[in-house]
Amino acid sequence: MNQANADQAVRVIDDLFFRPDAQQIVASDDELRELIARTELPPLLAALAAATDDVGFVPERLRPPLTPVDTEPHPHGGMSQAQQEEARELALAGLQRLRDEGRVTAAPLSEELTDEILLFLSDGNAGWLNSLKHELNVAPSGQGAPEWNAAESLNGREFPVLVVGAGVSGIAAGYRFRQASLDVTVIDADVELGGTWYKNRYPGVRLDTPTFGYSYSFAQKGDWPQQFARGEEILEYLREVVSLAGLADSIEFQTRLLRAEWRGQEGVWEVTLGTPAGEETRHFSAVVSAVGQLDRPNIPDFTGMEQFQGRVVHTQEWDPDIEVAGKRVAVIGTGASAYQVVPAVAEEVSSLVLFQRSAPWMLPAPNYHAPLTETFHWLSDSVPNFAQWYRLWMVLGGIPGRLHTVTATPDWGGAPLSVSEKNQEVRDTLINILQEQFASRPELAAIAVPNYPPGAKRMLRDNGVWARALLQENTTVVTSGVSRFTERGIIDGAGVEHELDLVVLATGFRPSDYLEGIEVRGRDGQSIHDFWAGDARAHNGVTVPGFPNFYLLYGPNVGGVVAGGLHFMLERATEYALKSVRAVIDSGAQAIDVRREALERFVAWVDAGNELMSWGQPYVSTWYQNNSGRVSQVWPYTNAEYWEVTEAVVEADHEFLR
Ligand code: NAP
Repeated sequence: MNQANADQAVRVIDDLFFRPDAQQIVASDDELRELIARTELPPLLAALAAATDDVGFVPERLRPPLTPVDTEPHPHGGMSQAQQEEARELALAGLQRLRDEGRVTAAPLSEELTDEILLFLSDGNAGWLNSLKHELNVAPSGQGAPEWNAAESLNGREFPVLVVGAGVSGIAAGYRFRQASLDVTVIDADVELGGTWYKNRYPGVRLDTPTFGYSYSFAQKGDWPQQFARGEEILEYLREVVSLAGLADSIEFQTRLLRAEWRGQEGVWEVTLGTPAGEETRHFSAVVSAVGQLDRPNIPDFTGMEQFQGRVVHTQEWDPDIEVAGKRVAVIGTGASAYQVVPAVAEEVSSLVLFQRSAPWMLPAPNYHAPLTETFHWLSDSVPNFAQWYRLWMVLGGIPGRLHTVTATPDWGGAPLSVSEKNQEVRDTLINILQEQFASRPELAAIAVPNYPPGAKRMLRDNGVWARALLQENTTVVTSGVSRFTERGIIDGAGVEHELDLVVLATGFRPSDYLEGIEVRGRDGQSIHDFWAGDARAHNGVTVPGFPNFYLLYGPNVGGVVAGGLHFMLERATEYALKSVRAVIDSGAQAIDVRREALERFVAWVDAGNELMSWGQPYVSTWYQNNSGRVSQVWPYTNAEYWEVTEAVVEADHEFLR
């Protein structure tokens, strides 16, 4: 492909990382066979169909059945042996064709071929096509780039937008709003971009979902090194996205939103920002909050903590200068953060005390610390857009995710330990793994089994490192709780004192306190915190009645936990916010305000979904619920439903302020 054509391809494909050309294949047939034997077949066939413009690579008879994933994913989406054999022959023919024809670039995909390939991958599930096209950068239509340019509609009207936060959500908002030519200011209270990935630098920090399910649709990095990316790799990715998006110089750091007040007369938000130079007042037509959900550490009020002569640090406040080697360390908590810290420090410390209030459920992930394979990198380099198809395959698997394993059967007899027959089956499978892992120490095996249903709290991914760390001779697992701190350490609930140098609080966050520390006053001076009264609610997770032109990203009830993906949800929320801004500008109105009925309908709908999930059962306690017991953090449906509700800003659900 010559440079002019390459530039053309880059322009039409909404992906900051897009590389149109693969490298010429020179491998022999035998080498190709070996590569195929080690690869996931459905995304390879999809990529070959796209690269050769040949629907013959995705025949209906080879559609993967997408056998529901209870614990570990099924290779090739559950294809039968016969399907796999035929698929391998087909893949060989495809790779030979790329090699022999010297084909290194895929032709633009037609709508028809895109649909055929997506129906192949999804086993004919037409209901998923829209959400899949959103994620497929090479699809001819359907991605999240705005099809509207504010500059053409504003007619000289000023419409400055404030994005609060330069983490995963804020970067998406900054990028998309800029793409629509809006005047965007991004602020961040920290000194660096990256949000949670900048802050969380504790030992062992890495993704707890597969890397290829954790990137923007508009920035599809193909050369990730790890199956589950390390924290620093994600931070580096975010820096690269910001740089490629041209946002790098326009983020105002060390700038915190303190107050936002709607000035109805002028139709603007008056915001007060805290900066190193003091408070500053500015005006914006719209405010997009991208302040994150898991950002405010939960620091329990342990008796005597102030007397302790050693150091206490929350995982999010980890200081890279902390030395653990040879130290007496305690970790309090057994969630996703603890799961990463404990194995990462266990071998270095002189002693480790783990305070476990409840045991974690862990899904088997044998490749948790593994790099992406050489075969993967070869395919990614040699088959046009293979990494994009592989990413799509990961996203697709996440659509149903494991929802079926956590859906409750009313009046199920296994409560409070399981919520359905399938949930009990998963429970039994996971208990068997735990019993095997802890076989040498039955007393640990007994306390390693959670006393709540799988899925009620975040399930971790494990390759055995947790059990290994707990089984070490220098590790003590305490289940009697923290009674109090002393100068020397912690006295546990059984009265035993543990002498310590360092206490790591892996005690999580306060996710239900949305917008904590920020005063937001909407129409008639109403405070958003008064409106919520501790139970944050937003229509589609994005808008709140009485707060015009105000948008929440990663807001209430849009976090997927056993299905879906973070980036999909927050990109769709961003696109929805942008459509709402467009509705204001195109209509010549000053502002848009969602009606209360629309919010109530949305909340009733998500509540009904959550009540059927393991985390929605009255007998479980989880960070997915807020203080009033309502599940306000979690989305109970699939990506496909969120695509639907965020597709249009329904006029009847809104009031336009003029
Ligand atoms: P978490 O899941 O809320 O876990 C907090 C832990 O601290 C729980 O075991 C909790 O016990 C315990 N705890 C809290 N207060 C306590 C107290 N007063 N005394 C004793 N124990 C106490 O927090 P997290 O591990 O930081 O994870 C939060 C979320 O962040 C995760 O679910 C995940 O979504 C995200 N995360 C992601 C990654 C990743 O992708 N790599 C890594 C870390 C976190 P109970 O369970 O009994 O309440």
